Amino acid sequence: MLADKDRIFTNLYGLHDWGLKGARARGAWDGTKAILDKGRDGIVNDVKASGLRGRGGAGFPTGLKWSFMPKKSDGRPHYLVVNADESEPGTCKDREIMRHDPHLLIEGCLIAGCAMAANTGYIYIRGEFIRERERLQAAIDQAYQAKLIGKNNVHGWDFDLYLHHGAGAYICGEETALLESLEGKKGQPRLKPPFPANVGLYGCPTTVQNVESIAAVPDIMRRGAAWFAGIGRPNNTGTKLFCISGHVMKPCNVEEAMGIPLPELLERHAGGVRGGWDNLLAVIPGGSSMPLVPAGSDQADTLLMDFDGCRDKKSALGTAAVIVMDKSTDIVRAMTRISYFYKHESCGQCTPCREGMGWMWRVLTRMVEGRAQKREIDMLMQVTTQIEGHTICAFGDGAAWPVQGLLRHFRPEIERRIDEYSRNADAHGAVREAAE
Ligand code: SF4
Repeated sequence: MLADKDRIFTNLYGLHDWGLKGARARGAWDGTKAILDKGRDGIVNDVKASGLRGRGGAGFPTGLKWSFMPKKSDGRPHYLVVNADESEPGTCKDREIMRHDPHLLIEGCLIAGCAMAANTGYIYIRGEFIRERERLQAAIDQAYQAKLIGKNNVHGWDFDLYLHHGAGAYICGEETALLESLEGKKGQPRLKPPFPANVGLYGCPTTVQNVESIAAVPDIMRRGAAWFAGIGRPNNTGTKLFCISGHVMKPCNVEEAMGIPLPELLERHAGGVRGGWDNLLAVIPGGSSMPLVPAGSDQADTLLMDFDGCRDKKSALGTAAVIVMDKSTDIVRAMTRISYFYKHESCGQCTPCREGMGWMWRVLTRMVEGRAQKREIDMLMQVTTQIEGHTICAFGDGAAWPVQGLLRHFRPEIERRIDEYSRNADAHGAVREAAE
């Protein structure tokens, strides 16, 4: 269990002052100049040594990502872009940082900007986050007034920070779609390469990073890379915000050590599964685009909540949005609903995604009632593999994985419904024949 002294987000629940005075009392903006004085390589090496991996879903090593930014400027400005488009169903962690601990994010932006030689940063915030935008803008204004950021600030690294409000499209959480949207275009992902570190915002070198990753950096730099690397296990270091929702007694956000076993996470912080652990049907460990993990001694019972632990169960940590489903859940209907979400949010550029999402959703809709053929189960699985890896962006994968998880673990349930439906159909036919 994570000790209180190791928590980064000490105002996660908004019990204290979110403003500059309160943030400073909690340690924000302490020694920032000394951190910047380490220089680009010093900061990047510390972030690398901490083992921090991106908290937005993909888990790419943060320090390594920063090191991709050009070492020498070719005249084009460098940009830091913060992805605050938190839209993955089940995820509600970045909004709490922006609401209650915005100065950690702003300080992190300054440090990250310095580490990648960027004098300008943009925070792209989700369209639905109205209050969060107001709070974050107020905190940015405070930082400007106190000369913590901006031109000729007290830290010696000129850094302007702009907050940009999106219009509420899930796909704008994909980094290149986000850049397109920031440029005022339709939010549609770009083909890669070129990668944003070479050709990003306005054609300039850019790094896009999630809110939680950036907000964790000031504490990593202050307390030392070894402190962060000492939490969790190798390759899965540090603390993580977990968003626990669904059929638990007390849904909550909580900061915990990476690698905490799922049962412990739910028991300790969320009051356990509704009706007890034995009432668990399945859990989605990392937001709706990740495959579910069913209950069972070799599955959810032994799931370690980190990147490798989730991968071992053929799922992924994603955003660490833990969606718990107990035995009252109609699992086929639940996955069908998720499938509908992805059908709705596809940007439509790639045929496998645009057409495949609707196709999968329609087949699943029939499977909910059992109105399908058993051979369609394999056909549906095959279609998911034709979408996965064959699209411009990872949306295709993220939409195919929940369906794959369902088919992998709940095939007998789908077959049972098909059998039941055909039995009922036969019975109705017999009644009709007798009546005629
Ligand atoms: Fe758009 Fe889907 Fe293609 Fe991504 S995979 S670019 S969301 S059509």
